[in-house]
Amino acid sequence: ATQPYDDQNIFAKILRDEIPSNRVYEDDYAIAFHDIAPVAPTHILVIPRGSYVSWDDFSARASDAEIAGFIRAVGTVARDAGLVAPGYRLLANTGAQSGQEVPHLHVHIFAGRRLGPMLA
Ligand code: 5GP
Repeated sequence: ATQPYDDQNIFAKILRDEIPSNRVYEDDYAIAFHDIAPVAPTHILVIPRGSYVSWDDFSARASDAEIAGFIRAVGTVARDAGLVAPGYRLLANTGAQSGQEVPHLHVHIFAGRRLGPMLA
């Protein structure tokens, strides 16, 4: 079973504008902002507006509209940032062994340099 959603997690606070972030995109389903500790020249995080702990929680509980809206937002953010031609990588850490640190679903977008064969 997934852990309960903690509405004091850092991305929940970013969604509520209780702490600042460098937002690059927002719509009804998602917001996107620059990672505070980038590991690539472009490192953007896309998160759903809904309260979901992880990819697992989201894919199990979110509505079809939320899932479609979120996935479309990830693509739009990358396209708007000019990343389609050079290419980009998506990553969603899920659960303890993945190293997921923030318990609100986030998809990383990495771009701007040659990425290694497996992990960013
Ligand atoms: P995870 O390891 O959970 O997949 O990724 C969490 C990411 O969130 C890390 O890349 C980390 O740098 C980023 N992060 C953590 N706290 C903040 C914050 O307060 N603001 C922003 N913009 N990014 C954060």
